[in-house]
Amino acid sequence: MHILKLINMRKIFIVLLSLSIGFVNAQTMDANTAAKTITAAGLKKHLSIIAGEEMQGRETGTEGERKAASYLVSQYKQMDLTPGNAGSYRMPFSLFQDKVTASSLKVNGTSYTLDKDFWISAAAAPQKSFTSPEVFYVGAEFNDKSTLDVRGKLLISSEGKERAMSKTMAAQKLGAIGIINIAKTNPTMPSNLSGRLAFAANTNTFVSMTVSKTVGAALLGGTKEFSDQEWETIPVGKYNAAIEWSADRTSVTIASANVIAYMPSREKTDEYLFITSHYDHEGVKNGVIYYGADDDGSGTTGVLAIAEAFAKARKKGFSPKRNIVFMNVSGEEKGLLGSKYYGDHPIFPMEKTTADLNIDMIGRIDPTYKGDSMNYVYVIGEDKLSSDLQPITDKVNKNYNMELDRRYNDPKDPNRFYYRSDHYNFAAKGVPVIFYFNGTHADYHKPTDRVEKINFDLMEKRTRIIFETAWEMATREDMLKRDMPLNMPATR
Ligand SMILES: [Zn+2]
Repeated sequence: MHILKLINMRKIFIVLLSLSIGFVNAQTMDANTAAKTITAAGLKKHLSIIAGEEMQGRETGTEGERKAASYLVSQYKQMDLTPGNAGSYRMPFSLFQDKVTASSLKVNGTSYTLDKDFWISAAAAPQKSFTSPEVFYVGAEFNDKSTLDVRGKLLISSEGKERAMSKTMAAQKLGAIGIINIAKTNPTMPSNLSGRLAFAANTNTFVSMTVSKTVGAALLGGTKEFSDQEWETIPVGKYNAAIEWSADRTSVTIASANVIAYMPSREKTDEYLFITSHYDHEGVKNGVIYYGADDDGSGTTGVLAIAEAFAKARKKGFSPKRNIVFMNVSGEEKGLLGSKYYGDHPIFPMEKTTADLNIDMIGRIDPTYKGDSMNYVYVIGEDKLSSDLQPITDKVNKNYNMELDRRYNDPKDPNRFYYRSDHYNFAAKGVPVIFYFNGTHADYHKPTDRVEKINFDLMEKRTRIIFETAWEMATREDMLKRDMPLNMPATR
C-alpha cells in the first residue's frame, strides 16, 4: 500500500512536473524564438500592400494615406492590440497649406506673365492684392548690415554676389514690407504655388518675388533692359513705379493622422516603450507614383511585423513589463510633422517613455556596402541621452553578428541623419532613441523605390534585431537611465 501509494505519488509528481515544464516553457518563450516568427515572406506580404499601387504613394492628407492608415488599423485590430488614443487607433491632426491658383503683375500699366516675367512662392504671395506707388532700390549687395533706412518700404535689388534668399531675410529683419529680386538669368523652375504644410495658417504679410531684367528695368523707370554696366550705375534710392500685384491665395486645411496601438503591461502600467515609423511618402507627382517601398514602407512593415511577433508571444503567455506602443506617424516627408505633433501632444508621458526605436528605411543596401559585406544596419543616436542603449544593442547582436554601423553618430557628419527622422521629436523631449537605417541609395525619393528592389532576407534580419532589442527594453526591470544630458541635441 505504501509502496503502491508511493508509486502513485511518483506518477502524479511526474505528471505534475511535465505539466509545469510545459507551462514554464510557454511562459518563458524567449526573445530569439519569438523573433523567428518574423519572416521574409511575412514582411513581403505587408510591404506589397503598403507600397502597392492602391496606396498611391501615401502622401500626407490624401486618399492613399488614409487607405494606408486603414490597413495599419485593421492589422492592429487583428492582433488584438489596444487603441492608443482613447479608444481610437488614430490620432488625428490638422495642417494648413497655402495654394496660389493665379497671379498677375502690372508695372506702370503694363501686364506681365507668371513664370515668364515673374516668379513667386505661395508663402510670400499677398493674400489678395498688393499695390505700391513706389519702390526703393537697394543695389546688388544688400545685407542685414545695411545702414539704409528701409523700414516700411518695398525694396528692389539687382542680382549680385549676395544670395537672393539672404537679401530677403535681411529685408525682413530690417523692417521692409517686401523685396523684389531681379534675376540676371531667369529661373528655370516654375513658381512654387503650393506652400509647405504647417500647423497654423500662414499669417505672413511680407511679400517677395523674383522678376526678369525687363520687369526690373521697368520698375526703375527704364524703357528697355539695362546693360550690365548700366546696372552698376543705377543710384540707390526711391523710384516711382505703380505696382499692382494680385494672387489668389487660399489656405487649405488638410486632415492627417498618426496610427497608434499598444500592448498593455500588467506590471509597470505607467511606463512605455515606443516603436515607430512613418507611413507617409511623397504621393503622386506629374502622374507618377512615388511608392516609397524602402522609405518608409520598410519601417512601417517592420513595426507591424514586430507588433505581430509580440502578439504571437502574448498568446504563448508573454507579458511585457511595460507597455509597448506601436506608432506609425504621417507628415514625415513634409518636415517630421506627425511626430512633432505627437511630441507636442503626447498621449503617454515622455518622462515615462523609456525609449523610442525608430525604423526608417531597412529594406535596401547603400553604395557603401555591397556583395558579401551587406550584413549591416546603421544605428544612430545610441551615444546620446542614455549609456544603456549601446550595451543592449551589442548584447542582442550576439545572436545576429550584424555590423552595427555607428558612423553617423559623428556630430560632424554633414548628413545630419540624427535630425532627419521621427525619433528626433522624442530625443528633443529627452527620450533615448535608436534610429535604424540602411542609408540612402539611387532610388531614394524616386519613383523607383519599389517593392521589387527590397532585400527581404536582410530586412528580416534587421527587423529581428530590432524586435529583440525592443523585447529587452520592454522586459528589463528599470527604464533606461538618462545619464547623458550633455549629449542632448539642442536644435534641429
Ligand atoms: Zn523620405
